Amino acid sequence: METTAATVRIPFDNTYARLPGEFHARVNPQQVRAPRLIKVNDALARFLGIDPDELRTPEGVEILAGNRIAEGSEPLAAAYAGHQYAHFVPTLGDGRANLLGEVIAQDGKRYDIQLKGAGPTPFSRRGDGRAALGPVLREYLVSEAMNVLGVPTTRALAAVLTGDPVIREEVLPGAIITRVAASHMRVGTFEYFAARKDVDSIRTLADYAINRHYPDAADAHKRYRALLDGVVARQAQLVARWMDLGFIHGVMNTDNTSISGETIDYGPCAFMEAYHPGTVFSSIDRNGRYSYGNQPGITVWNLSRFAEALLPLMETEEGSAEAAMAAAYEALNAFQSTFETAHVAGLRRKLGLQTEQPGDLDLAADLLQRMAENTADFTLTFRRLADVLAQRDDYPAASLFRDPSSFTQWSQRWQLRLAQEGTTTEERIAAMRAASPIYIPRNHLVQEMIDAAVQRDDFAPFEKLLQVTADPFTEHEGLKRYTQPARPEERVTATFCGT
Ligand code: AMP
Ligand code: MG
Repeated sequence: METTAATVRIPFDNTYARLPGEFHARVNPQQVRAPRLIKVNDALARFLGIDPDELRTPEGVEILAGNRIAEGSEPLAAAYAGHQYAHFVPTLGDGRANLLGEVIAQDGKRYDIQLKGAGPTPFSRRGDGRAALGPVLREYLVSEAMNVLGVPTTRALAAVLTGDPVIREEVLPGAIITRVAASHMRVGTFEYFAARKDVDSIRTLADYAINRHYPDAADAHKRYRALLDGVVARQAQLVARWMDLGFIHGVMNTDNTSISGETIDYGPCAFMEAYHPGTVFSSIDRNGRYSYGNQPGITVWNLSRFAEALLPLMETEEGSAEAAMAAAYEALNAFQSTFETAHVAGLRRKLGLQTEQPGDLDLAADLLQRMAENTADFTLTFRRLADVLAQRDDYPAASLFRDPSSFTQWSQRWQLRLAQEGTTTEERIAAMRAASPIYIPRNHLVQEMIDAAVQRDDFAPFEKLLQVTADPFTEHEGLKRYTQPARPEERVTATFCGT
């Protein structure tokens, strides 16, 4: 394992490894028996300055499986804590992930390259440090789909089979995903040091986060307040994008809330089909804490934990504990307006509205209410609004409603509002189709793709679904099944975390 690979060149330039010892445990990925490549993301590899064909060589596959350490890599498991379902766990950390290092990509920005499922670390607790094939394929596919849908997210660089079984409810093939992120700092990383009352480390981490993600805050009069403002704003915009797309993260614990504002740690995530704000997919989320409609509120809860961790730094900045608390509240209060502005803008785009009128949110809320009452598919309803305009007929959308007249009533109200817009119908249709995808990774299709891979070693459905979701805004002939919600017998009602 200590062999340094020479022909696979990854331009590592590591900084997290330079942070003090409390921040991580230096640990190499553990050996696996028989690595086998599933997929390399060519475009992403090139973007990161890596030749994808080098990753496909036997040596490249050994690196992606953790059997070899690439030159310049300094593998580590990061320390973090987290509130899981509101319950604080002071030591979580990378229990099955290994940060290989960082590279500067073509956009001039720094990215982490991390193996997930690479074996036990000092943070593994009772876990085996491994990942099963199903969750690896889900994360690969959904994170790449989110990226093309315009959502800030971690990316997938590669997936490999390990050749070792992992034991879950059943024995499953083991796999490793190579994940790329703007960084892997989480709210839980700050909580880790806050729980230990280690203010020096909180400051080191905050300064590192500012330098890496919020450079403007470095020049601010109150830099830690500016960091909090920045994270609140990015998280508000992120969750607004989730809501626009009907995306349910599923495990919004504070260790899964990133400081960079990216979607991270895809577990029991799914896109909602029939619209209902109470929709939940995770099998362990019995109280609906992380339901679709709770996501903005839970994000504020998670950001409140972040603000608490920053309080000692803000106290110095503000002059007193009381002033720091007031500043933290003020920063957190900004979430609602940033979220609403982004969310309403998203809804306006979906309804084909380019101007702003006070009744717009109410118009959208009226549609959503009718969708909930009529179990209308979230993605298709919004997509078919453009077809209603193109065909001058309510049918494409109305037919998705149990009672089509419910849509028709709303449509009359919508048409009156559209009449006040200056755009041509053609412009409006194009803008609407760019705002509401036709292809999303529907949960039953994801499950079907996983079953084919796990049960029959058949990766064709994975490749096909990846290809279909890579071009989500243009409807193509012959792909109807990828647009349709699950039939009752296909419905996946719960997704297991798959740890
Ligand atoms: P997650 O639910 O994937 O966000 O993980 C929550 C925590 O559990 C993190 O600290 C993970 O590193 C850890 N964890 C999850 N699965 C495993 C596993 N199979 N082995 C060791 N640690 C794990
Ligand atoms: Mg996590």
